[in-house]
Amino acid sequence: CGIVGYIGPKQAADYLMEGLRRLEYRGYDSSGVVTLEDSGELAVTKAAGRIDKLAARLRDASHHGGLGLGHTRWATHGAANDVNSHPHLGGAGEVALVHNGVIENFRALREQLEGMGYKFITETDSEVVAHLLAAEYKAVQESLGDEPTQDPYAPLVEAVRATVSQLRGTYGLGVVFRDHPDVILAARLGSPLVIGVGSGENFIASDGSPLVGHTDKITYLSDHEIAVVTADSIRLHDREQGPITHKVSRLEIDE
Ligand code: GLU
Repeated sequence: CGIVGYIGPKQAADYLMEGLRRLEYRGYDSSGVVTLEDSGELAVTKAAGRIDKLAARLRDASHHGGLGLGHTRWATHGAANDVNSHPHLGGAGEVALVHNGVIENFRALREQLEGMGYKFITETDSEVVAHLLAAEYKAVQESLGDEPTQDPYAPLVEAVRATVSQLRGTYGLGVVFRDHPDVILAARLGSPLVIGVGSGENFIASDGSPLVGHTDKITYLSDHEIAVVTADSIRLHDREQGPITHKVSRLEIDE
């Protein structure tokens, strides 16, 4: 239902919680956040019910990282409970993602991934995307061997591209990789996603409202595009055509 993301020098969790509250007006049944911690782990906290419940759980959890994603869920597949809430981890925790939309072919993908040994803990369509991404990332790494790539983010873009090209349905995705503490990837088809352009920090969101007060510069992601967002750069790729230029617009919101 709602997505927020932050990368920059501040503690991501503060912005994520503020952003999730700004998205409450859209309705939701559960919420959650993931941050990448200095320990190198992706820390996930989530809760069914009101955002206040998530906030209470966050007080007992450790979320200090400057990179993170948040989600408000409106359940379509799987009950509205803690475990089915987003973010979801893929593989053995190499990736975390938040997903808006519906993956129509999730059953077939799930069977295929279970056959490859991936263990599912939720009833959601979204968890399929998380494990598929982990599998595609592993495949990209294996094909590259120890060869360093000129663009350090190229393998991540390729993993996302290979993943979304297998999905049928709709998605707005925010993705973080455990081993890449300096980048958020985003992709969309049919579910809105925008990038807030800050200075020394950047944001992603499912609409402009979480950006208000943080930046008035916005880039709209289009269907079939993949965004690579670091604290000081934003690059877009078209799924088929590769790198493309992007426009920055002025965010206008009636409050
Ligand atoms: N289909 C996903 C789920 O049920 C995402 C729903 C949403 O857009 O919030 O978890």
